[in-house]
Amino acid sequence: MRTHIECFSKYSPDLVRLMARIIQQKQSGKTWSINGPIYSALVSHQDKFDDQRKEAFSTILTVLEHFVGDRDFQKNSPVELFDLFGKISCNSFTICDAELQSLGVGIYQTPSLLNHSCLPNCVAVFNGIKLLIHATEQIKQGDELTISYTELLCPSYQRKEDLKSHYLFDCNCPKCCSSLEEDGLMLSLKCSDFSCNGAVPRDLAGGGFAGCNTCGKRQSDKTAETKAQVIISKSDEALKEIKTLEKTDDYQAILDLAENILEEQKGSSFHKLHFSKIGILDKAMDACIYLELWDQALAFGLQTMDAYKLYYPRNHPSVGIQLFRIGKLQVYLDKLKDGFQLLLQAEAILKVTHGNHPLVQELREMIAQTLDELREEQNRTVQGMELI
Ligand SMILES: [Zn+2]
Ligand SMILES: [Zn+2]
Repeated sequence: MRTHIECFSKYSPDLVRLMARIIQQKQSGKTWSINGPIYSALVSHQDKFDDQRKEAFSTILTVLEHFVGDRDFQKNSPVELFDLFGKISCNSFTICDAELQSLGVGIYQTPSLLNHSCLPNCVAVFNGIKLLIHATEQIKQGDELTISYTELLCPSYQRKEDLKSHYLFDCNCPKCCSSLEEDGLMLSLKCSDFSCNGAVPRDLAGGGFAGCNTCGKRQSDKTAETKAQVIISKSDEALKEIKTLEKTDDYQAILDLAENILEEQKGSSFHKLHFSKIGILDKAMDACIYLELWDQALAFGLQTMDAYKLYYPRNHPSVGIQLFRIGKLQVYLDKLKDGFQLLLQAEAILKVTHGNHPLVQELREMIAQTLDELREEQNRTVQGMELI
């Protein structure tokens, strides 16, 4: 994923660090080709900056001056710095570890030229600070290579809003142009027939809800849409609060908050394919892993799987990594057969998205170990039967 530099309410330390590094490299005459053709070709969208972004720029300038020192700072004209700020805001990548946790930001000139699609044919993954671009689909000669700059497990209106506010463009990719049905499912409620597990999607074209996708039953509660909207807003607030709590590693507070919101979502009958539910379940799973509550972590993780498989492109790192994490939990909890199956599914995806990455090697070792354990288990069962 590209960087979501949060430079709107305050400056981002990652962004300032990156700007300072580029300025210092330029000053020391190092190889960074800030005047090269690729750098010049990067968009900065300065003409589209709103007041908030301009205000962020002036805050950043003050911090930057402290960072690089007066002398180096003054060698750059405000126009050059504004251009650099624009280019970094729109083109930098979040450097992530193997579990997709953010480590910092970086500019990678050639990959920055790749455009966005919500249905991309490539992914960007990191091996340390090395950025690798892998094809995830068959690509014909002449096809444009695309990656996703944003989170894909959310409705098109949210993706569009996110892309507009961070990268200053309107997404008109094929998925955004035909998303109403999928968006409806991402906002679905549980069928009111308790014996049915179906989803009742929002009817975004006609208003209200469509019939249940399994039994056809319609939503009888006329206020359901308004109630659901309130819980979605509450869930968004909770996610923001969780982000703050993550900085202090208070995982018990994160888990408590996530569980409260999940209860409220249950009260409003959110279906397991509701995107808002998945976001909270993910946070609850993470918190349980930190708190070493393995059974609970597994239970939360398993609830996310259907949505992950349905909404992400088939070869997406998030799906592969989620399968790997859940498979690992199952193996630790001695659910060897189930874990083995999930690890195999993870490998089928991660070998495409990550190639020969250390993560894939770690996964393959785990698959081999689990297979050994399964064989031992089978031998013990056979010997036990012979004794009987
Ligand atoms: Zn799109
Ligand atoms: Zn139904």
